[in-house]
Amino acid sequence: MALPQAPYLPPLNSAPPFPSSTGANRATVEAKAPTETRLYPNYGRAEIVLERGKGARLWDTTGRQYLDLYAGIAVNTLGHDHPELTHAIADQAAKLVHISNHYYSAPNIELAARLCALTGMARAFFCNSGTEANEALLKLARRYYFARGETERYEVLAFTGSFHGRTLGSLAATGQSKYREGFGPLAGVTHVPYGDLEAVRKALTPRVAAILVEPILGEGGVILPPAGFLEGLRALCDEHGCLLLADEIQTGVGRTGKFLGFDWTNVRPDALSLAKGLGGGVPIGAMLCRTELETALPPGSHGTTFGGNPLASRAALAVLAVLTRDDLMGNVVRLGTHLATRLAAFSDRYAAVQSTRGQGFLQALELAPHIDPNHALALLRDKGVLVTIAGGNALRFTPPLILTEEELEQGLDALREVLEELSR
Ligand SMILES: *Cc1c(COP(=O)(O)O)cnc(C)c1O
Repeated sequence: MALPQAPYLPPLNSAPPFPSSTGANRATVEAKAPTETRLYPNYGRAEIVLERGKGARLWDTTGRQYLDLYAGIAVNTLGHDHPELTHAIADQAAKLVHISNHYYSAPNIELAARLCALTGMARAFFCNSGTEANEALLKLARRYYFARGETERYEVLAFTGSFHGRTLGSLAATGQSKYREGFGPLAGVTHVPYGDLEAVRKALTPRVAAILVEPILGEGGVILPPAGFLEGLRALCDEHGCLLLADEIQTGVGRTGKFLGFDWTNVRPDALSLAKGLGGGVPIGAMLCRTELETALPPGSHGTTFGGNPLASRAALAVLAVLTRDDLMGNVVRLGTHLATRLAAFSDRYAAVQSTRGQGFLQALELAPHIDPNHALALLRDKGVLVTIAGGNALRFTPPLILTEEELEQGLDALREVLEELSR
């Protein structure tokens, strides 16, 4: 059965279009307005029910095809239904899904070793999401100074425009009022302007235990730090004797073209968090730290029931294996440069574009102030291309790392048409 195609998306050569659900099933999964489902209405969702994916393609329940240039918010590292990842999940599910952290599992031990080798860290703690990985960082910092008798040293410096998650600890670190509103009191974190080393220096009181920083502000609008900023933070932390914590949840696992965002610098944080792309869509988060911090959270002091379960660990191992074997970071550097160049050219050409910026497969196109980003997003979606909004006014491109040049060109063609329409 031929399926309706979005204008820019020819059928995949490698896989036939997926047959859509039967009529009977279809009726139960039709898109509904938020008021018509029993789902808690805390998200603004498009009225589309997605059903299948293959590579960088998605299909909804009506059989319409989309090009996925957002990867479930920088999560689907290998795209959809990647053979190795699908096999790893199925194979592991048939052996062990969950055992708790009362026992070891081989995939979890192996994943810890892999991640430490990839990041230069000494130990890995596993959890189930980004916000939990950041909670682990925050608790690690407090407990480290507590164990040294420095009980007054518990504050964290974070940055305006940052995003660190939605639980109360990581929300306290998040430097954007739109996420914080109504959830106070959120204590223990001071925010300073991103990129401003002088402001950091002034804020470094004896109470500061750690600086928490994203190598690139992701949700905040894909803001790159000025040259030398991360190195400057490292120097200030050394001078002040506090910890440098890196939130690599969005920038990690190859998204910028190196394994970590910090890999573009010649300095290391003391500990870091990973999540989003790590499991290729299977929920997993990780806190990695260097040797000096390995006793800061002694047995019983921190934990999670699901963290590092064999299923999620196996999925992450599959992601890391393909990432290396297929040189996906090479693909990100090559196509990311191409994407950045093309976005910059759009910026020169179309009045609807204010500016562009990014690194690798984390790119943003900031729209002119008079353009409604949700309108632009919807126009692009109508052409069958899915992206997200970051920083309130920018279209953010976080494609799966397996994206091909041909797919990228299709996405850029659709974007050009939308920008032409918006600039008229
Ligand atoms: C998404 C994100 C988080 C939160 O991750 P969740 O899995 O949604 O809890 C934290 N920090 C950064 C930089 C992120 O991009």
